[in-house]
Amino acid sequence: MIILINFFLKKNRYLIEILILLILVDIFKMSKLIIVSNRLPLNITIENDLLSVSSSSGGLATGMRSVHDKGGSLWIGWSGIEEENLDLNLNKKINNQLVNENCASVSLTKTEVNDFYYGLSNKTLWPLFHYFTEFSTFDNNQWESYKKVNQKFADIVISNLTDGDRVWVHDYQLMLLPSMIRKMNPNVTIGFFLHIPFPSYEIFRIFPWREELLNGVLGSDLIGFHTYDYERHFMSSVKRLLRLNINFNQIVLNDRNVTVDTFPMGIDYDKFWNAAQNHHKLKNNQVSDLQKQLNLHIDSLPSNKLILSIDRLDYTKGIVNRILAFEIFLETYPQYKEKVRLVMLAVPSRSDVPQYKKLKRQTDEIVGRVNGKFSTVNWTPIWYFYRSMSFDNLIDLYTSSDIAMITPVRDGMNLVAKEYVSTRIFKKGVLILSEMAGASQEMNEAILVNPNDLNSLANSIKKAVEMPINDQITRNNILQKRLKRYNIHKWANDFMSSLLKTEIQSDSIKSIVIGIKENKKIISSFKNAKNRVLFFDYDGTLVDFNINPALAKPSNKILKYLEKLSMIPNTHVVINSGRDEAFFRKIFWKL
Ligand code: UDP
Repeated sequence: MIILINFFLKKNRYLIEILILLILVDIFKMSKLIIVSNRLPLNITIENDLLSVSSSSGGLATGMRSVHDKGGSLWIGWSGIEEENLDLNLNKKINNQLVNENCASVSLTKTEVNDFYYGLSNKTLWPLFHYFTEFSTFDNNQWESYKKVNQKFADIVISNLTDGDRVWVHDYQLMLLPSMIRKMNPNVTIGFFLHIPFPSYEIFRIFPWREELLNGVLGSDLIGFHTYDYERHFMSSVKRLLRLNINFNQIVLNDRNVTVDTFPMGIDYDKFWNAAQNHHKLKNNQVSDLQKQLNLHIDSLPSNKLILSIDRLDYTKGIVNRILAFEIFLETYPQYKEKVRLVMLAVPSRSDVPQYKKLKRQTDEIVGRVNGKFSTVNWTPIWYFYRSMSFDNLIDLYTSSDIAMITPVRDGMNLVAKEYVSTRIFKKGVLILSEMAGASQEMNEAILVNPNDLNSLANSIKKAVEMPINDQITRNNILQKRLKRYNIHKWANDFMSSLLKTEIQSDSIKSIVIGIKENKKIISSFKNAKNRVLFFDYDGTLVDFNINPALAKPSNKILKYLEKLSMIPNTHVVINSGRDEAFFRKIFWKL
């Protein structure tokens, strides 16, 4: 290509420019990244036929948006609006809007949302993978719907795929997607990241369609987890259920290898740090109403403390245990009554699933009971918000709190814990963090707690309230240094460079389909060679053992060919087999 450009340079500049443009278009086409997740990172609402689009919250959306916003990617997912609620006109409007945002939608019917999303994803996989086996239901119709919807996603991916594109699939709703894409396009590079825990084999084996699910993910070239424990659990299930060979962090398949690795997801550290700095500079008349309320508590007594709790209202987040521990704290250490307040933000989530409805009722009830028990004219122990908050209000909460209490009973990572620490611009503040959150593996300097041990939780509140400032500063300095370094950009870059590495690896083990050209080359090399060694594979080496040895026996025709080949002068025939010597001799005795 370079020679061509030099040649034309002398002749015609205009032609060169077109040529360079074509090369650039080709390069850009080649480097497109297709991000696939169940939901698009947008909230679309329609009121009086007017469309409004806003960014959605949640770890995955927030994290991947920083990759998507750089450009050069297409995000595929469900828009959040069911097919039945879309007419032709509205659909066109939404699609135009999505094109502007470099997104494409997969349309889902009400029944599909019910069976695939609320059903198999959130009533089966979510509870099972978070060790809530008693909440998991196994419904064949929902499984069929899960397969059908994954295929719908695969069709949209394939229709947007051009040569050289890479695909990055996200999360537990789309675990069959990698193999479905590979079936339709065997050479595409696919990465998969699981944002929730992968449970131990003893839990995973409960799932009735476990082999299909594993084979689905194994369509990927790279599979990523938040922690090494999740990676280990996955490998163990693959080994025990699929009986595949594992070589370090590679799963060996017949025609390719799959790399499995750990990539702890970070946050956009600078965004939170800068937001906290800007928040600090706000004048009194610029602060939000929420901040004014928070200031009332903070200013009433310098020794007053605010404890922050932020989660989606989900049974995995340990919200009830947290309130009960706060109750024990107030009972055991009454000196802190009227001085310490719990600010609890519970973001509505999956409110159509019965377990979530029940949790909402339970939370309302316990908050009411504790507030009723301890409230005074000047003080309510728990401020409880059941809604989602804007980014600015989140920063109000983060920056105003002396302690963050993040104590899920099981959580893939937990980004709120990381966000809180990144807003500590004066290095003060204490994080109480559950051992069961993936984040705890990188945040040893937090007060780590077992969320099921209520007394120890209550004592950790006391420890946090009384922690000397110097201790707080030391801990936050270390935590912040780590979070700044392993931020969301590093997470995405690490994953992408590992994905690209798999392309180089797979090139070196790629099988080639032998056509006329290769055939001619092989025959001529064979004829011209002075010495020849021919390697053959028989049962249990490149391919698995044939369960029925009688069927695995080579035909007489093949045995004859082998015999003939071995009689050519200067030619050795080598047969590799996984079978033992006795069996081997029996089959090939004639030779
Ligand atoms: N979040 C938000 N609005 C809210 C509450 C939370 O945007 O009202 C964000 C929060 O900043 C964090 C994410 O939602 O980035 C929650 O991620 P996490 O990993 O803690 O939990 P998940 O909801 O993904 O289980």
